[in-house]
Amino acid sequence: MPGLEDLYREIILDHYKSPRNRGSLEPPAVRAEGHNPLCGDEIEVFITVEDDKVSDIKISGQGCSISQSSASMMSAAIKGKPIADVRALISRFKHMMSIEEGEVPDTSAPLGDLEALQGVVKFPVRIKCAILSWNTLAEALDIAGE
Ligand code: ZN
Repeated sequence: MPGLEDLYREIILDHYKSPRNRGSLEPPAVRAEGHNPLCGDEIEVFITVEDDKVSDIKISGQGCSISQSSASMMSAAIKGKPIADVRALISRFKHMMSIEEGEVPDTSAPLGDLEALQGVVKFPVRIKCAILSWNTLAEALDIAGE
């Protein structure tokens, strides 16, 4: 499917050029930061947790297109979602990033734009770029006591 890879590339570039939920949040919002020294990627995640939901999220940082677009897609996917759903999405995304060849991906819930990052699995050095913001989000949830 040659058209699909082009579509995926476009989605990734779109999030890189026009990142969603860019910025920062003031305390009491929780802040966590992550680094990927292999590539030089830096991500800061700010979240506000209210009524067991991630009511707001902002992302700062810099790095390669994979790390920044993954963070943008993540923020769009989880904003306003219950904590339990966010935790489930983190583990689903990390599972997608570790799929062995021939293994059948879990398609129980659509990942939307995030599926555009599936192709990254073919480039093991880039997997850390794609996962960076998700690990940082998990840390922010831990800090928030969720
Ligand atoms: Zn990177």
